[in-house]
Amino acid sequence: MREVVYGRVPPALKQALTTRAGERGLSQNATVCELLERGLAESAKEAAREELDAALAASVRELEKTRARLAVAEGRLVAAAEQEERTKGTLRALAERARHELGVCPACRKPVRGHDYLVSGRCPHCA
Ligand SMILES: [Zn+2]
Repeated sequence: MREVVYGRVPPALKQALTTRAGERGLSQNATVCELLERGLAESAKEAAREELDAALAASVRELEKTRARLAVAEGRLVAAAEQEERTKGTLRALAERARHELGVCPACRKPVRGHDYLVSGRCPHCA
């Protein structure tokens, strides 16, 4: 089954079609069908390529955003690690001082350490 398509083309295009048909030993009709099929296939590929390009561009934008968020997160991690080191230093100093004798218990007059006063909150001798 064959359908008919009418189309007007510039003389140069008609001449090129005639030349192509002659070179390939095909009829003008067969040449038009072949070239039209190829053109449509290429056009479909081009549309698919444009979709892929758009998806790639969206992925690149997402990657850039993710990299920016990662840079911010890494900066926060470094700041948190520095803060943790400062806190560790403070806690080490506090623990060291808590081991020292702080004074005497007002009840039993025996020595109490910083740990007794600050952590347990009671005299180890009176307990
Ligand atoms: Zn006591």
